[in-house]
Amino acid sequence: MQNKPQEKGQKIVLTSKEISELLAEGIVTIILLILLNVAFLVVISSIIKSSPTLQDAIFETKFIFAQNLDNEIFWSGRYFIIPIFFLVDVLILTWRLFRRYRQMQLRHIISELHYIAEGNYDHRIPFEVRGDLGRIIQSINGLVDSTVTAIEEERRIEQSKDELITNVSHDIRTPLTSIIGYLGLVEDQQYHSEEELLKYTHTAYMKAKQMKSLVEDLFEYTKVRQPGVPIYYLTFDMVQLVEQLAIDFELEAAKKDITIEVKAKPEQIMMEGDTEKIVRVFNNLISNALKYGKGATQIVVELEQISQEVIITVKNNGQMIPQKSLEQLFDRFYRVEESRSQATGGTGLGLAIAQSIIALHGGYIYAKSNPEWTSFIIHLPLKKGKKENEAR
Ligand code: ATP
Ligand code: MG
Repeated sequence: MQNKPQEKGQKIVLTSKEISELLAEGIVTIILLILLNVAFLVVISSIIKSSPTLQDAIFETKFIFAQNLDNEIFWSGRYFIIPIFFLVDVLILTWRLFRRYRQMQLRHIISELHYIAEGNYDHRIPFEVRGDLGRIIQSINGLVDSTVTAIEEERRIEQSKDELITNVSHDIRTPLTSIIGYLGLVEDQQYHSEEELLKYTHTAYMKAKQMKSLVEDLFEYTKVRQPGVPIYYLTFDMVQLVEQLAIDFELEAAKKDITIEVKAKPEQIMMEGDTEKIVRVFNNLISNALKYGKGATQIVVELEQISQEVIITVKNNGQMIPQKSLEQLFDRFYRVEESRSQATGGTGLGLAIAQSIIALHGGYIYAKSNPEWTSFIIHLPLKKGKKENEAR
């Protein structure tokens, strides 16, 4: 069976073989019914004839009905019995033909199912049938739809895992090649002064640290993406947590002539969340602002409680992020072109991890950038949300 037409709402068209089958069934049924009727009449009349009391009783009843309904013809045997027989025969004939027709429809549906099962997952049963069969068709089509979606999702996950492995291998191989290169120079004593030796070992050391940070990030990333990752909910003051983090970064910021300011409304925002994970999000956002906010003089963290939600904005007044990059910032391993230099040493996993952590808490994060401010905005529910396990 190939190339089935795919129009929805089609009627099931019977083949000529099926039509002849139906006709034959009809003719055989009519013959059988006639024989049955005759046999029935013969049996009844012989019973009546053999019993005079029964004859009298029938005659009596007929007479009373005929008198009351004023229509003798109707109550005479021929005009009364034959129409009843005829009606019953028609009913039986229709029932048998309809049953056979249903079987044929079912055969068509089964053949469509076989066609889909052969691997034609784009195909759907196109027939529009009323009643239970119609509902069965709808359910089968729905089932095929969801199976196809599940297969595609599985494929996407598989592909994304392959990509992850490729990216990681690449990102590990690059520093590893440098480390082997520099240590090779030291091993072969290919240096001319102690200063040069120190330079080689220092570079190897820095590359090793870069690898460690990649492996740690990767570990964190896969950890927060695992189904059923535990979240240790604590009740804490978000404003206090952010203020503490700002203090931790003050020294590093001062070195770059950047000020860090926290603005909160109200001054205390009590909420539930996994503080260890949330700290990781803000650490990344603030260190990103310090690393990538070229020309920035200010980092501002604003916290605002609106109804049952806290909105936290981490913004810096450095160079803006181009619009097309904004959409990809949260993709794993994505780094804006200029940040790819090894100087800043990131792996591009920080924001992907942050997004997963926020989603685990039932919230969301996005970025905005204009010539004045580059902002990362987080919405988090104050209370432990139901969404936490659907978040990934
Ligand atoms: P990691 O956080 O894993 O060490 P990373 O900092 O490069 O590495 P992300 O935190 O995911 O990775 O950030 C992705 C990219 O987004 C960065 O490489 C940078 O190009 C861009 N970016 C992030 N924050 C800012 C910012 N405040 N200003 C400008 N660019 C930013
Ligand atoms: Mg980062």
